[in-house]
Amino acid sequence: MASVLASLRELYSRSTSLKPSEYVIALIQGDGIGPEITSAALEILRRVSEVYGIKLNLRYVEAGDSALSKYGEALPKSSIELIKSSHACLKAPVGETSADVIVRLRIMFDLFANIRPVKSYPNTQALSKDIDLIVVRENTEDLYRGLEFMLNPNTALAIRVITYEASRRIAEVGFRLALGRKRKVTAVHKSNVLRTTCGLFAKACRDVAKEFPEITYEEQYVDACAANLVRKPHAFDVIVTTNMFGDILSDEAAQVAGSLGLAPSCNLGYNYAIFEPIHGAAFDIAGKGIANPVAMILSSALMLEWLGAKYGDVACIRAAHRIEEAVYNVLLDGREITPDLGGTARTLDMAKAIAAKMT
Ligand code: ATP
Repeated sequence: MASVLASLRELYSRSTSLKPSEYVIALIQGDGIGPEITSAALEILRRVSEVYGIKLNLRYVEAGDSALSKYGEALPKSSIELIKSSHACLKAPVGETSADVIVRLRIMFDLFANIRPVKSYPNTQALSKDIDLIVVRENTEDLYRGLEFMLNPNTALAIRVITYEASRRIAEVGFRLALGRKRKVTAVHKSNVLRTTCGLFAKACRDVAKEFPEITYEEQYVDACAANLVRKPHAFDVIVTTNMFGDILSDEAAQVAGSLGLAPSCNLGYNYAIFEPIHGAAFDIAGKGIANPVAMILSSALMLEWLGAKYGDVACIRAAHRIEEAVYNVLLDGREITPDLGGTARTLDMAKAIAAKMT
């Protein structure tokens, strides 16, 4: 994951101000396993402050199912204000209110790029040892715009919104990322069936591809891509796709790489970013202390990398790299790993083992 976001610096540093004396981080604990993996990430962030002297001012922000039952709103105004006054947001998954929290925040802050790196780590049940890909998912439109309604009691409709501009800017993110990697972009769509919406998306990707002659460009239909992720996941570098396809393919890719519990993500805009695991609140294992904390921990690392690149803070970038190294080493060691990876460690024990490796 080292330097995932570096080649995008130009994009999110347009409005950069001076490096702050401390970073204000809006922290959403989430629902289900959210509070457990948040405690795990805090172990790491405390270590980051100790070892690298990075000052993090963590402010708890209420959002999700718990906020809904307490205040009648999943994303209260006060929470939005807290997020607005922070440098970045670290978010654990929320439950049933996900559309009212993260989908709203993505649109509110124009966090148009959902960047989901997926890698195979040692001692996981990855289908291939050489997986190193990124799913770049358009984050603001498509069927997830929430434009659904009943035409009559028997017919429900959903509107799929795809614009040329949004497709172009997400394609640009994909190509820029590929420049710093294996230089290959796969645009994923279904233009043989969804001729108008996917057709427009594909056209935007082709237009951008012409501006990046150094990048190998290919297209795959989403069903073929789903199969290829299982058949030859190592063949992918950067996958650029629309919102819903990206949601599904990135979960699949994470599972192919060993566990949903390993994959971090970043919701990136020009001025702000929210970092979160790609998995959900996993109510089936909530409260048992067995959730894999790695996706949340690597999301914290991505956040530090972004802060480091945005504010020119070398300590943050170093800390991000050290977190990933520590995760790698704990997985390689194989003793303190959670049940989803075949181990018996508890969430907090795995986090402590990762923190202990950070020097
Ligand atoms: P969403 O739609 O919000 O992504 P979901 O209902 O599709 O959520 P998840 O909550 O991600 O699904 O859970 C899918 C499966 O993966 C569950 O069996 C869950 O236990 C497992 N899982 C998810 N996250 C983790 C984790 N961090 N550690 C271990 N298992 C996990």
